[in-house]
Amino acid sequence: MKSRKQSVLYAQITEKSRIKQKARVSATYIKMTIPLQEAIVDEAMPATLTFYVDSRFTAAHVKAIKRMLAGTIFSWVEYFDELDGGNTPRFKNCMRKYAKFNLSPVWFEEKIANGGASLEVMMDGLTTALAANGFGKAAKAYIMYGTGNFNVKAVNASDPERNSLTVTVNPRFLEKTLTDGIRAGALWHAWMHRLGYRHPAGKYTNYAIGEACMCIMRHHQNKLSTEKDSKYTQYMD
Ligand SMILES: [Zn+2]
Repeated sequence: MKSRKQSVLYAQITEKSRIKQKARVSATYIKMTIPLQEAIVDEAMPATLTFYVDSRFTAAHVKAIKRMLAGTIFSWVEYFDELDGGNTPRFKNCMRKYAKFNLSPVWFEEKIANGGASLEVMMDGLTTALAANGFGKAAKAYIMYGTGNFNVKAVNASDPERNSLTVTVNPRFLEKTLTDGIRAGALWHAWMHRLGYRHPAGKYTNYAIGEACMCIMRHHQNKLSTEKDSKYTQYMD
């Protein structure tokens, strides 16, 4: 039999977990449709993408999220634009130089020769995921609200045709004064986890998923000997 003290404690704990559960269930999401910039790719692409944004984000946060999405997608558009122009995309040169490990996503069975080739596969994966989102073939993509010691994070996934581009964004990250490149790279990193790319916890250097976002963050410029990777990797999950 419980003493009165224990019963009170038990009631308090039950109440707390009930509130927690209620909070989780009551998170509401607002549908957001954004235009998809046109990229010179072989397959038919949708005109828009759809995301479901947690209603706890303020109007300023939502604006920053839209800007981050546009910046991330621009890296994809720019790659195909440069490719169509007959030059090796700057992004590809950057990856050829720095990406050495985990060049293949989990769904890709062949061996990838180098970092430059790995970006081709990565870009195709993103093309597939964007098409699946816009044509409604993939699961709904949520922009979830989260606080704690992270900036943008995503749960590992492995099927760009069906898995969503769902990520969790820390509102504090959106409030920081950062360049568009930093934000775009951070989201790119999270999306690549969704697309089947992996890295050992806390290790980013020379991993395809780490170098790709550092390339975006540095605008595809070479690394400087005076600059540590942590300047960029601090924003990756
Ligand atoms: Zn990561």
